[in-house]
Amino acid sequence: MQSNMEQLTLSKELISHILQGHPWIYKDAIAGKLSAKSGDIVKIVDSKERFVALGLLDPFSPIAIRIISTYPENDSLHSIISKRFVSALALRKSLSLSNKTDAFRLINGEGDRLPGVIVDVYGEYAVVKLDTPAWIPHLPIISRYCSESLKPAGVIFKGFIERKSETDNPSKKHSDEDSINRVLYGKPAPKFFTVSEYGMNLGVDVYSGQKTGFFIDQRENRKLIRDISKGKRVLNLFSYTGGFSVSAALGGATQTISVDVSRGALIDAKKNMELNNIDLDSHFFEAKDCFEYLDTMMKKGEKFDLVIVDPPSFAPNQKSLYNAMRAYAKLNQKAMSVLSQDGLIATASCSSHVSMPDFTKAIDESAKLSKKIVRIIETRQEPLDHPVPIHFSQGRYLKFILATVS
Ligand code: SAH
Repeated sequence: MQSNMEQLTLSKELISHILQGHPWIYKDAIAGKLSAKSGDIVKIVDSKERFVALGLLDPFSPIAIRIISTYPENDSLHSIISKRFVSALALRKSLSLSNKTDAFRLINGEGDRLPGVIVDVYGEYAVVKLDTPAWIPHLPIISRYCSESLKPAGVIFKGFIERKSETDNPSKKHSDEDSINRVLYGKPAPKFFTVSEYGMNLGVDVYSGQKTGFFIDQRENRKLIRDISKGKRVLNLFSYTGGFSVSAALGGATQTISVDVSRGALIDAKKNMELNNIDLDSHFFEAKDCFEYLDTMMKKGEKFDLVIVDPPSFAPNQKSLYNAMRAYAKLNQKAMSVLSQDGLIATASCSSHVSMPDFTKAIDESAKLSKKIVRIIETRQEPLDHPVPIHFSQGRYLKFILATVS
């Protein structure tokens, strides 16, 4: 590390958080101003000037510092990033992910000790997304270790993780250079290509698809839906490109209906069905608002054996938690009312501000509102390739509940 690195003295309490593995230091917790600039590495010390950690400075963000290393003191950024890639890949290998899929998350930000950096792998291509422009000066190093560890055909920079609110959105000072969909290494990915997950083909569009291409994080839940769909009539709400619908169809669902407001997503959902040689006669696509669609189904008295509810986040920040809880309760109440007796609901929340106990409470509220008895069969959070530091509850964004409703 460069010797002229700026030094920051932090309180005992903050230091103990860092040493327990908490990856963020908020701007409010820092007294005084730092002269280092965005993307510089700063050295954190205790009151006796003893080394504690190295952090990436992000002066425009409420998260002023992201901890990248607590040992050793003189490690270079190259060496830190290289080590993170080696251990992230070793973890994925040890979990036998490659037997399941060729689409996986290699770097899960804080969970792989590179806070703010996401690297997803889709077959021959790696896609990088950042939570902050403070990483921009170091993209060449990130790209280098992507290519060294994965030997991909290409590495693509997809810009920044979407945030829904200004308070959540740290720094918007992106320069022109930050332009998204930039090829960092090798050749550009094709516009639409196929990956394989548990033998299922899924089309990926890394350029305009959500997140880095699609929802890698629902892999194990797609597998679960496939395993439980035989002979069922399935309603997939907020279907996007139909990952759950294709899973249900492959699992032997007698009918699937995919509902999403986005016509483009439904075109891709249809393509995904075709990629798996699924006969489209019993699989339908409705470009509608899910709330309105449920009202129509209720009026018609339609019933489904399995309803999947995987909406976008309803709680972009802590302040919206109360309204989000009500929205989850209302939506799931409606979903329960189109379930056949003892039908199954598979319901998810992807908001980091909603904890599993919060989400369970919202589903309990749905049960009360619809006067149904709900029995939980399984609860799940992030899959294998999304490790989360134990003290970093923000990282536990995904909640998934499978329940039977009577
Ligand atoms: N379940 C999907 C991911 C859902 S992403 C999967 O497994 O891949 C959220 C989706 O909800 C987006 O495709 C978006 O177009 C859709 N959406 C958002 N609000 C909606 C609404 N009110 N009605 C229907 N679809 C909606």
